[in-house]
Amino acid sequence: MQVGEINAAPTVQVGLGRCLRSETVRVAVRGAYDVLGKSGALGAGEDLAWSEVRAEDGLRLGAQVFKENPITLVPRVDGTLEVEYVRDHRGNPVKPAGVRYHGKLHIHALPDRRLVLVNEVDLEEYLKGVVGKEMNLAEGEEALKTQVIAARTYAVHEQRLERLRRVKGEKFDLYDDERSQVYGGLERETAHATKLVDATRGMFLVWEGRLVRTFYSSSCGGATEPAWEIMTDETEKMPPLGGVKCGYCERRASTRWKEPVVVSKREIAERCLPKELQALKIRSVEISKTLPGGHAVEVTVRFENSSRAVKLHANNEFRRQLTPSRFRSTLWDPLEDRGDSIAINGRGYGHGAGMCQVGAYEMARDGRTAAEILEYYFPGAKVQKMY
Ligand SMILES: [Zn+2]
Repeated sequence: MQVGEINAAPTVQVGLGRCLRSETVRVAVRGAYDVLGKSGALGAGEDLAWSEVRAEDGLRLGAQVFKENPITLVPRVDGTLEVEYVRDHRGNPVKPAGVRYHGKLHIHALPDRRLVLVNEVDLEEYLKGVVGKEMNLAEGEEALKTQVIAARTYAVHEQRLERLRRVKGEKFDLYDDERSQVYGGLERETAHATKLVDATRGMFLVWEGRLVRTFYSSSCGGATEPAWEIMTDETEKMPPLGGVKCGYCERRASTRWKEPVVVSKREIAERCLPKELQALKIRSVEISKTLPGGHAVEVTVRFENSSRAVKLHANNEFRRQLTPSRFRSTLWDPLEDRGDSIAINGRGYGHGAGMCQVGAYEMARDGRTAAEILEYYFPGAKVQKMY
């Protein structure tokens, strides 16, 4: 991923996950706005009260029907656009609430008439809506700056890679949830977040003229791992992503889990195995491959009365299927067989690729700068100010 031509803040296109593929969504603009289509201006107004959007031979916006798809809603005053949500990121119903966004809104109708809303926003404004969500703002300034630089680099890297468009068929480059980086529009913007973004404006993590895919996770438990082994979706093998000994996160309390996670073999079968194997009775679940830092990368499942063995990627096909928050990490002790269930004990929190957030907090406490911290976790890479 060559850095090349970043010489001003680009915009990024973020898919609004809480209404992704809804049949209707309500939007509002608290001021003058324009509606654009492929051919140019389609309409304009002085103020858009809460209006229902729906696919209808093009797109309906309140009382107006536009014979185009997509349409783009462009507020003339930045930050006056609102989208109403009736469910949270996990799809659970919530009390309807509007969230304000910078930038503009692309509204796409899919062939099945479901909607995709995409917020196109200046990268620096986007980061202000990420910062407060992704980090503990009580931590040291230099540690928080590392995360802003990492989030900025990650966003542009994902946009250049176009992975969501190519692989998932999405109409945007970043989700607004954990699948990319949690982004809450103006809802979560604070004076502190703004200060951190402004202080690192235009700074990216670069290795030999290429953007580094700046993963980070909460606590590595002692060492980070080769990122391409954990994030198998098109992660480049490059030295900065090879993993380092951390040691910093372990200073802060113990990274050992307080109690084991117990998961039934039935649940493992239902969530992790292909349909045709779900009826088989699981005999054993074992770690069959670990990475240099100790994180499990492969789990092997064997069955009663069968010679079949299924190998699962420990993070993507096991931990993530069984909900990542429950499993905390893949830095496990040997799995304990309890008959109908498996007990897993371990250390750390998160996938273990890229920067260790708790480690970064501890390094900042030692007086290290944001650049020094990033260059430690991504060896060989350098922080560069591009604009
Ligand atoms: Zn660590």
